[in-house]
Amino acid sequence: MRSSTTPRRRPSLVLALALLTLAAGCAEKRAPAPDAPEEPAPSTATPAGEGAAAEAGGEVTITPLVHGSVLLRQGSRSVYVDPWSKASFEGLPKADIILITDIHPDHLDPAAIDAIRGDATLIIGPQAVADKLPGVEVLANGERAEVTQVPGMVVEAVPMYNLQRGPEEGKLFHDKGRGNGYIVTLGGQRIYLSGDTECTDEMRALQAIDVAFVCMNLPYTMPPAEAIECIRAFRPKVVYPYHYRGSDPGEVARAFADEPAIEVRLAEWYPGGEG
Ligand SMILES: [Zn+2]
Repeated sequence: MRSSTTPRRRPSLVLALALLTLAAGCAEKRAPAPDAPEEPAPSTATPAGEGAAAEAGGEVTITPLVHGSVLLRQGSRSVYVDPWSKASFEGLPKADIILITDIHPDHLDPAAIDAIRGDATLIIGPQAVADKLPGVEVLANGERAEVTQVPGMVVEAVPMYNLQRGPEEGKLFHDKGRGNGYIVTLGGQRIYLSGDTECTDEMRALQAIDVAFVCMNLPYTMPPAEAIECIRAFRPKVVYPYHYRGSDPGEVARAFADEPAIEVRLAEWYPGGEG
């Protein structure tokens, strides 16, 4: 950590560091399944104490905002992913946690972040995001963090990148290693948010995903047919097509219409044509 941090920023930075434990070198701690017997709260529990153990298995409410922007709520806790100013945040809670996937303006929007952040908001992103926005806690591809601010919350960074599509020959829209998809464990659920990606080996290999948000737009990510191929590979219980401007998410719904084990949820991601 730099020692030249300005006094005004320092308290929140120290707080943020205390809240985030990088998994490298520390034991993974998973949230209990919703129906699992609760373990007694460890003596090192957060001030929420026994309530923290109860909250760790609570119900998660999903609010599609716009395009690739999502709000996850569990109890009084709010987790925003890629908040974007094209959504309205009126009436929505301040963020406890903000996850940013990439540097493009539909994912990294400082104005939207300012609109929802509070004094103790923890922002997590890849290094490329931290380079553009002060105060971001860095999580690299493949790293996992326990977020002690939210009982039972764990965040894992999954690579997101193009395999073949880019602005010109020899270039990709998203280079491997720059951005993060995320698996968020919240309320005992494993929730995957793809970020901007094609159907990568890492996505195919995902395990035990309860809810998946999967992108599908051209030219930046992949068409629905490729998204469907990847969904067939990792078989989440619930799929939300998102980040699909210009594509038909109904293709995904039709593809899994006869497979009750995979529920496709179509939501309104472009209210008023926004995004
Ligand atoms: Zn995007």
